[in-house]
Amino acid sequence: MVVEAPRCSVCGRRAVYKRSYSGELLCERCLLRSLARSVKRQASRSGGFRPRMRVLVPAALTAPHLGLALALALHEATRGLDVTVDIAVPAGREWEVYVHPDSLARLMKLPRARLWKALLRLRRLPSSLRACLRLDRAWSAAAARLIGAGAVGLPVTRTTVILVMLDSLMEGADWGLSDALEESVDINGVHVAPLLYSVEGEAAAALAAAWRLYAWSPCKPRSLSAEAFWSVAGRRPELEFSVQKVVGLLARGSSRARCPLCGGASPGGVCPDCRISGLEGVEVEEFKPSPGRPGGI
Ligand SMILES: [Zn+2]
Ligand SMILES: [Zn+2]
Repeated sequence: MVVEAPRCSVCGRRAVYKRSYSGELLCERCLLRSLARSVKRQASRSGGFRPRMRVLVPAALTAPHLGLALALALHEATRGLDVTVDIAVPAGREWEVYVHPDSLARLMKLPRARLWKALLRLRRLPSSLRACLRLDRAWSAAAARLIGAGAVGLPVTRTTVILVMLDSLMEGADWGLSDALEESVDINGVHVAPLLYSVEGEAAAALAAAWRLYAWSPCKPRSLSAEAFWSVAGRRPELEFSVQKVVGLLARGSSRARCPLCGGASPGGVCPDCRISGLEGVEVEEFKPSPGRPGGI
């Protein structure tokens, strides 16, 4: 018996991903185009892309492979606009986000991408999902400023946003709800936008896997609600948008001061999450592949 390989619903090539909510089968190219369209739509809510713009995308501590997937989708979304995608990979004194050398090489071939290493002076790596996300926002904005990029695209997906919302509700930290909003924040003049907000985590992870973008983070952030969430969501992580509308209404109800480091709502001054992480400084240097150490970053 010959089993036919599943075919892309759009173009008929070999499919690599089945979108659970629509049943649509996508090949690696159509998956990339679909995510690029979502990224473009999301960016248009906060001014869109302009020619010769520079956007920093972090290989985020929260999920570095999703950062690489976003960099790829952003590169695709800004075709013809001469937008530079600055990919920054963080490292500290005793830790680093590790990007597979083949993945690095693949990203370096993108004509409008530049790779950077961001050195973080940090008291400790955060242990919770929300604190990790806030740290990613803070160091990315600082790194963008240093290299002259005016914007940051964060690889925060709809799935992460829902977990952060549930965590904040369970903790009674209403200020944490701001992280679940579909909003861009300005941190010291750098525009930070959640460019995967409308994308389910599963689709972004599928893009990373299909394009062989592998990266590992030393952060294994805890989410209070993850177990309960997955037991309910099961094989349907692509929750409906209406859930996020509820988040929006909840979070918008409380107007709060903003943390100067991460731009999230705060009970006052630097938020509790940033106080624990203790980000003291960021330095950025352009990544040059070193022959002795193929991993490099
Ligand atoms: Zn296709
Ligand atoms: Zn903060």
